[in-house]
Amino acid sequence: MEQRLTQEEVTELSEALRCIRCGFCNSVCPTSLIPEAYKPSRTARGRMVLIQSALSGLNLDLFDGDVAELMDLCYGCNRCLAVCPAGIPIPDLIRSYRHALLKREGERERVIGFYTETLPQLFGLPGPLRRLLLSIAPKRLIAMYLGLATDVELPVPEGVEVREVMRRTGVLGGDDAELAYFADTYYRYVRPSSLEPLLHALRELGHKLSFPRQWDSGVLLWEYGDRDGLKALAERNVASLVQEVERGRRVLTTSPAATLMLREVYPRVLRTPEATSVSRAVVDVCELMLELSESVPERLAVRENAVTLHSSCFSQHLGLTPKLIGALEGLGVKVVAVRGECCGVGGLWGLLKRNRKTSLRVAERLVSHLEGPVVTYSETCHLQLEGLCGPRVRLPFQLIAPRGG
Ligand code: SF4
Ligand code: SF4
Repeated sequence: MEQRLTQEEVTELSEALRCIRCGFCNSVCPTSLIPEAYKPSRTARGRMVLIQSALSGLNLDLFDGDVAELMDLCYGCNRCLAVCPAGIPIPDLIRSYRHALLKREGERERVIGFYTETLPQLFGLPGPLRRLLLSIAPKRLIAMYLGLATDVELPVPEGVEVREVMRRTGVLGGDDAELAYFADTYYRYVRPSSLEPLLHALRELGHKLSFPRQWDSGVLLWEYGDRDGLKALAERNVASLVQEVERGRRVLTTSPAATLMLREVYPRVLRTPEATSVSRAVVDVCELMLELSESVPERLAVRENAVTLHSSCFSQHLGLTPKLIGALEGLGVKVVAVRGECCGVGGLWGLLKRNRKTSLRVAERLVSHLEGPVVTYSETCHLQLEGLCGPRVRLPFQLIAPRGG
């Protein structure tokens, strides 16, 4: 088998050889904590054993359909990173594996091209034409073409771009802007209106945002091993954002995936001083809300008195959950429970038809504990939980409003 892998791939995957099969990763892995994982090969440890077997000369083809399906069960939540005594970066190994798979198959998930390329092209069209196309597009057919499940509300665009929402709310600034907003695809094209409470609050507090040139963060390319595509996007985003940083602006993100990419992944991928500068300038919206809750709590109103907080995978990885709790409590919102179980969506992974059943199985452990109003900080967790629990699930910044506004 080793002969079918390039030397570079063998080197990257050989970290799995250090796995001592302790199973600690299984104890935190969402896909290992569902009934279907009674088959050991469907667990986090099982994926390491598959790689070990392939590298050890057993007649196991990692790219065979059935084995590839097992490897694809990891959706990069990062939970296993903290518990592995051997320090094996399991999600990175899976990304290396997907990179190898992509090189062989030469074709990536259609959904990735849709969100990273087709949507920006669509929004390059004149507004009336774009809105007409979006209004007549048969959503079910698009979902089927992209391989998405049809039991969820699909992340299709509202029709306006976030810059229009920023202008409408009066928060779009010029030279007076002190924050540069990096929206990423979801808030830029898909659900910009969900930002309105935040934008209204910032305007009332006297903050202005710039909207520099920007492209998709590339989180899907990263997860699915398209390293060249990711590097190209990272270079363009950093080249634009570093100019904002040089003007003394911090870079505001409103999604844990965007925070992760700008703060952690771009510096690793690019290894440039510019990427490091941008990384250091990132302020996640949970951090901004914490600052506001400490500096001007009397100027903000909240829409709920008590909530259950779903702590998303990336929020946990980035250490954002305590900051969000601090922000909510500082604004007078009682956090009655923090649920750290995974919602099963894993970015867009759980919205793909082929993963939908597993995704819902993972979600069961969480959903049974969610009572009353729920807050989750992740756009795709929000999609998943809103679909399962209804409109009582909200994003953190949908809770705030300017006092008297
Ligand atoms: S990254 Fe998440 S889904 Fe993947 S093996 Fe680790 S815990 Fe499981
Ligand atoms: S926690 Fe690490 S060493 Fe233990 S089974 Fe998982 S990958 Fe192997």
